[in-house]
Amino acid sequence: MPQGVADTGELDRVLGRLRQAVGDTAFRSWFTALSIERSEKNERVVAVPTRFLRNWIETHYGDQLLASWRAENQAVTRVSVVVEPRVAAAGRGGEDGEAREGETLVEPAEPSIPSEIGEDKGLLSAPLDPRFTFDNFVVGKPNELAHAAARRVADACADPVRAVPFNPLFLYGGVGLGKTHLMHAIAWHVRTHAPNRRVIYLSAEKFMYQFIRAIRYRSTIDFKEQLRSVDLLMVDDVQFVSDKDSTQEELFHTFNALVDQNRQIVFSADKSPSDLEGLEERMRSRLGWGLVADLHPTTYELRLGILQSKAERSGVAVPPKVLEFLAHKIVSNIRELEGALNRICAHMQLVGREITLESTHELLQDLLRSNERRVTIDEIQKKVAEHFNMKMSEMISARRARAVARPRQVAMYLAKQLTSRSLPEIGRKFGGRDHTTVMHACKKIEELAETDRTLAEDVELLRRMLQA
Ligand code: ADP
Ligand code: MG
Repeated sequence: MPQGVADTGELDRVLGRLRQAVGDTAFRSWFTALSIERSEKNERVVAVPTRFLRNWIETHYGDQLLASWRAENQAVTRVSVVVEPRVAAAGRGGEDGEAREGETLVEPAEPSIPSEIGEDKGLLSAPLDPRFTFDNFVVGKPNELAHAAARRVADACADPVRAVPFNPLFLYGGVGLGKTHLMHAIAWHVRTHAPNRRVIYLSAEKFMYQFIRAIRYRSTIDFKEQLRSVDLLMVDDVQFVSDKDSTQEELFHTFNALVDQNRQIVFSADKSPSDLEGLEERMRSRLGWGLVADLHPTTYELRLGILQSKAERSGVAVPPKVLEFLAHKIVSNIRELEGALNRICAHMQLVGREITLESTHELLQDLLRSNERRVTIDEIQKKVAEHFNMKMSEMISARRARAVARPRQVAMYLAKQLTSRSLPEIGRKFGGRDHTTVMHACKKIEELAETDRTLAEDVELLRRMLQA
C-alpha cells in the first residue's frame, strides 16, 4: 500500500475486531463515526467528528484500538485520533495540513453520539464504563443470585409499568467481584431500553462530595430535588458513607423519599448491611428491607469462563492451557485475573510470539507470587489459639467446654473462609472431626457474629492478621 493513502479495508477489519472486543453497544456508541484519515508506515490516523468523541476514545479505548490494529497489522505502532467535523470534511482535499486543521475548527454543537446512550445531562450521575454491560458479564454459581437480581431490577426499571421488585437491592461482596459491573449494566440497560427514565449512578464518595459541595454553595435544595426526582438511584460502595454522619442522614432521607414514591434503589458495599460498621441502626435495618444478594469469591469454573470470554472478545488467540493455568493460579479476584490476561495479550501483540506456559510464568511472576501467599490451617489454628490464650493441642482435642469449643469453631470458620480446603479436609485437621461439625461451626460463628459484637471483632481481627 502506498504511503499516505488510507486503506479502508484494513480499517474495516480493525473495526470488526474492536466490535468483538468492546461489545456491540459500546461499539455503536463510540466507533461508528470513526473514519481513516491517513496511513503512514507505522502510524495510522483516524478521525472522529467531535472533540468529545476523541477524548472518550483516547481515554477509554486507546490501548484497545492499538491492540486491535496490531492484531490486524503488526507493523502499526501508533494510532492517533484527530477531530474532523463532518461539515468541514465535505469539501476537503485530504491533505495532511488540512487534516490537522480539523482540530481547531469549531465543533458541531451536539456530539454525534447516540443520544440514548449519552450521559444524562444536568444529572449528578457519574460516567458509565462501556464495557460493564450484561452482555459482558459471565454468570456462574458465585454470582448467579446477584446477577439475576440485577437483571430483574433492570427489566423492571425499563418496563413502562413501573414495578419495583425489591427495594433496595443491596449487592455486596469483596473487592473486584463485579458489583460495579452489575450496577453499570443496570444503568446501560435502562438507558438503552427506556431513555426517558432518570438514572443516577454515583459512588458513595461522589455522593458525599456532591452533598458537601451543595452545602457549601447553599444549593442543598437543588441537590435533594435532583436526587428525589430519579427513577433509579444507585450508590456504589456505601461502606464509605458509614462514618460520615450528615451524609448518612441525607442518604437515609433520600432513601425513604424514593421508597415512598416507589422508585428503585440499588446499593453496593463490601459487607452485608449487618456487618457494615458505623451505620445507624435504622439505616441498617432499612438496607436489609429489600433483597440482599452477595457475590461470593470466584470458583475455578467461573474464572475460566471469564477468561475464555475475555480472550475471545479481545481477538487474541490465547492457548487454552494458559487460560486454565491462570484460572487455577489467580484466585484473588476478577480484576487481577483480567489484569493478567491483558498483560499476556499485550505481550503477545508486542513481541508477536505465541504465548506459552513458560512465558506466562515469567510474565506474571509478581502476580502469581502474591496469589500464592495462602493461609494454611496450621497458621490459623496457631493464631486463634494465641489470641484466645489456649493451647494449640486444644484445637484438636475432644474437649467440648465452651472456653475451648468456641475458639475452635472460630478457627474452623476461618479455615473455611481463608483456605480452599473442603469441609472434610478441615474436619480432619481438627482432630478428625466430621464435616458436619465443621459446617455447624461455620454457621454458628456466622450467627453469633450478627449479635455478638466482641466475637465479630475478634474474627475480623484474626482474619486481617492472617491475611496480612
Ligand atoms: P467490584 O465493584 O466488585 O470491586 P468490579 O465490578 O469493578 O468489581 O469488577 C472488577 C473487574 O472484573 C471489572 O473489570 C469487571 O468487568 C470484571 N468482572 C467482574 N465480574 C465479572 C463477570 N462475572 N464477568 C465478566 N467480568 C467481570
Ligand atoms: Mg466497585
